[in-house]
Amino acid sequence: MSLFRKSPPDHGHDHGPDSASTPSDDGAERPVLDPQTKLDLQGLFQHFQQDVEILLFAAADGVDVFSTAARKVLRAMAELSPRIRLSEHAPDSPRARDLSVSATPTIIMSPERCRFRYLGAPVGEEGRTLIEALILLGFGDSSLSPPSRKLLKTLDGPRQVKVFVSLTCPYCPQQAINALKAALERPDLVAVEIVDIQANPDLADQYGAHSTPQAFAGDKLIALGAQAEELFMASLVKLEQQTIFIPDSDAQLIAADLVVVGGGPAGLTAAIYGARSGLKTVVIEKDALGGQVATTPVVENYPGLTSVGGKALVDLMVSHALEYCQIFPGEEVMEITPGQPLALATNRRRFTARAVLLATGARHRQLGAPGEQRLAGRGVSYCATCDGPLFKNRAVLMVGGGDSAVTEALHLANQGASVTLVHRREKLRAQARLVEQLENLKIPVIYNAEVKEIKGQERVEAVVLADTAGGPERELKVDGVFVAVGYDPANALARRLGLALTPEGYIQVDERHHTSQTGVYAAGDVQGGFKQIVTAAGQGAAAAMSIFEDLMNPYWTRTRAEKA
Ligand code: NAP
Repeated sequence: MSLFRKSPPDHGHDHGPDSASTPSDDGAERPVLDPQTKLDLQGLFQHFQQDVEILLFAAADGVDVFSTAARKVLRAMAELSPRIRLSEHAPDSPRARDLSVSATPTIIMSPERCRFRYLGAPVGEEGRTLIEALILLGFGDSSLSPPSRKLLKTLDGPRQVKVFVSLTCPYCPQQAINALKAALERPDLVAVEIVDIQANPDLADQYGAHSTPQAFAGDKLIALGAQAEELFMASLVKLEQQTIFIPDSDAQLIAADLVVVGGGPAGLTAAIYGARSGLKTVVIEKDALGGQVATTPVVENYPGLTSVGGKALVDLMVSHALEYCQIFPGEEVMEITPGQPLALATNRRRFTARAVLLATGARHRQLGAPGEQRLAGRGVSYCATCDGPLFKNRAVLMVGGGDSAVTEALHLANQGASVTLVHRREKLRAQARLVEQLENLKIPVIYNAEVKEIKGQERVEAVVLADTAGGPERELKVDGVFVAVGYDPANALARRLGLALTPEGYIQVDERHHTSQTGVYAAGDVQGGFKQIVTAAGQGAAAAMSIFEDLMNPYWTRTRAEKA
């Protein structure tokens, strides 16, 4: 949930949640928290078991927007509980020297208990990091899962962790909090700095961190993207990115009627419908809730909402689903064993279910051009919402001709990037309304061109474009390449289960969302179709109703005559 009021965008047109990224110094007095959030937090914070000490090292008001924003948000937090003790210090104070503070703003939290610093202003999406940090410190427990604690016990040397984040990245708080939990659990060995790359561009450049989140231990990159907690701990221990973690067989067991795998529009809608029909329903999501919508700058075709930030729409859906069911974010389903009930194992616990809905969505496609993988996170990005603010006043190329590419090109232009769109054909595939906006903003489009190579040593420096109409190749100097060339179904679990797939890899379903495996259903982008938010939500609702009817009157026990 976005807990903080957003500052106005620094470019006129964009009303999405991303526009909150840069703190405003317009002097307008707006409360940091809305009244309800304030009450909720006060209620929670009054149960704190320990004091939380916050030291803020910031420039005087009006000197830099990040210092001003950090001061404002921390003062608002300190007002919520006498247990939050804020002290403010000048960056050249003796205390700053003692603590080797070298950047403003720097926030140090409870230094007597852990080594945790935040470099920047925790606003926008990073408001979640601040709130969760306060909660963990206030309750005095890392709240790590037993497998994570076990992993950290095996840590054999010091780790200086840096997690690079941006204020518009919905994935970042998960990774920042993973790092804080490690610092709380092993204060003897783990020191953590969360670095906002907009406030600290030089440090980001030094580490070559040009996408978020990225986690380093010392100089070593240990994770690109957000991870489940156990995977982060394993990466920290092994000093390289880990992708698989299987829990012990005695992990916690939760019995549910319906387990929904995937927390995008299809999964969340199915959960609302499933739970409201009386099924004990849970949602498991390994990444950020909302799927692709969470990083869609603006949505203009969801009925009832003329224009809404993708993340704001997700927050509404998540709040709605939480009214009825439990959601397990940051958890990855590793295994599904067919049967009645079905058995599922995540990286943290086990579930049984009478039905499973796969709403795993789709993963962005790669271009496959030389240089793309090597420079991923070093100027090559797949998320304009997360990484766009880093390219203000820089030249970027947006690749693709569909709705995503055009929506994201508009967003990048609104963020102040100098963006050029490149499309492999002579006509864009995107909706006319979006193309019109592109023309209004005078964003140049290069037609009939394909990215042949992405060049650069430490970071993106140029692209080589091949002319699909047979003309000569050309090289274009750019600082970033954003790729939006469509999505492939996220079908890894379906493949492991041996489900029947279409030739394109989508899960084959009948009109009632049944897959080829009894008790397993599919909905949303992983089943293919129109891939709109509203159609995914519709499929989720239909699948949940189908599941409810089947559980009342199982199709797998009905005779052929009854089915007809
Ligand atoms: P898409 O509609 O599949 O478009 C992908 C684009 O990338 C196409 O223009 C395609 O070219 C191009 N492309 C594919 N492979 C390429 C390659 N290797 N090199 C260069 N270009 C390549 O994907 P999308 O834009 O991500 O949209 C996915 C779905 O989400 C769609 O249903 C879309 O309507 C929906 N969506 C909607 C909105 C909105 O309503 N605001 C926003 C985002 C997404 P060709 O045209 O030549 O095939």
